[in-house]
Amino acid sequence: MIAYDEALAIILREARPLPIETCATSRALGRIVAAPVVSPAALPPFDNSAMDGYALHSGAQMLAAGRTFEVRGAQVAGDAHSDATQDARAAWEIMTGARLPDGFDTVVPVEQVECIGLPGEPARIRLGADVTAAQHVRRRGEDVPEHAEILRAGDCVQPQQLMLLAALGIAEVGVARRPRVAILTTGRELVDDPAQALASGEIRNSNGPFLEARLGMAGAQVVHRRTVNDDPDQFRVALADALAAGADVVVSTGAVSMGRHDFIPGTLRSLGARLHFHKVAIRPGKPLLFARLAGGALFFGLPGNPVSCAVGLRFFVEPALRAMLGMAPEIPVRVPLAADYSPRAPLRFLLKGRLDCDASARMHAHVLAGQESFRILPLLESNAWIVIPETMGTVAAGTLVDVHGLGHLQAPAPIPA
Ligand code: AMP
Ligand code: MG
Repeated sequence: MIAYDEALAIILREARPLPIETCATSRALGRIVAAPVVSPAALPPFDNSAMDGYALHSGAQMLAAGRTFEVRGAQVAGDAHSDATQDARAAWEIMTGARLPDGFDTVVPVEQVECIGLPGEPARIRLGADVTAAQHVRRRGEDVPEHAEILRAGDCVQPQQLMLLAALGIAEVGVARRPRVAILTTGRELVDDPAQALASGEIRNSNGPFLEARLGMAGAQVVHRRTVNDDPDQFRVALADALAAGADVVVSTGAVSMGRHDFIPGTLRSLGARLHFHKVAIRPGKPLLFARLAGGALFFGLPGNPVSCAVGLRFFVEPALRAMLGMAPEIPVRVPLAADYSPRAPLRFLLKGRLDCDASARMHAHVLAGQESFRILPLLESNAWIVIPETMGTVAAGTLVDVHGLGHLQAPAPIPA
């Protein structure tokens, strides 16, 4: 049995970055940027007005309230470059987002002028307030200069990244290829078809749908899913099919403990896999196994209990996916524990938790009731995993503990390719 930190170090050593591919920006939601993206243009692309009002020429001087100007033209959003022949007494009516006509350098909002032109005369305005140079003007490149690095390798493309990419007209991004993952659920008790009645002793397969959903949200592409009996031959066939489907990573559940039907470690060895570890000092999920298959794919053998499976995915598989995607290791947040917690063994506890604010809006980490690894329902109350490090003693309320969100990517599921 090894410590979690040691296990994680092995996983991070073994997980290699995947190749880069080009992805249309329109399909890049949830993808991980593989090389820095540099702005090909300035944003805004031209000086423009932040208000509806009048463009004026300040010449870097303050224009005092009461001054009057003749309105010589108008500029609305979408109007091209205006070669306005203006002088210091000219104003142009201007709308939000309209390009500032040449020579104008400041804007007075419409609310701060009085229109004083008489019928039949050129329109005139009088300033109702002092106007400072460059006010209400959005300068070219003020948001993003040309050639600025806007995305770094390892960044996740979220809606706000899409917004900036769209604003700059960037149609493609280089992203890490999504890790291809196969899911093999084991157990002769498992029933996949919800329409099939359960025979005595049977249960429904809940790990399979969970893993498929979460893996997609974690940036992976599920290429194969199969349920096998506790039969090594069936498992060998399913594993071969998973690899034929292109799996970089195989995630199994069940059959890694010490029971008579826990055939996975022996079967992997017989296939020439290199077992990096089997059993980690955590609860739940201790019998977890990690190996490299003869062909190079990574293999995670997660225990069968639903919460052990969720912990295995969150704390072992997801860090590997991050590394394969070129993301930096995750940094947990530190939150005070809401109540004393007494671990019953010198293991690292990975607990169904809930972050809530108290009456004074201070956040606390609550260890939820129902931590047993067969209990799924408390997961629905949970919004975080709480980590209680390996220690014999009670961890007092108020102690800062590491808290991990439910998923390592906050992005929604990527759009299937
Ligand atoms: P195992 O790790 O194979 O010993 O399984 C541990 C427990 O998890 C047993 O109660 C299994 O019935 C249960 N289990 C195994 N696989 C699944 C699954 N895919 N969905 C739900 N429960 C499972
Ligand atoms: Mg089993």
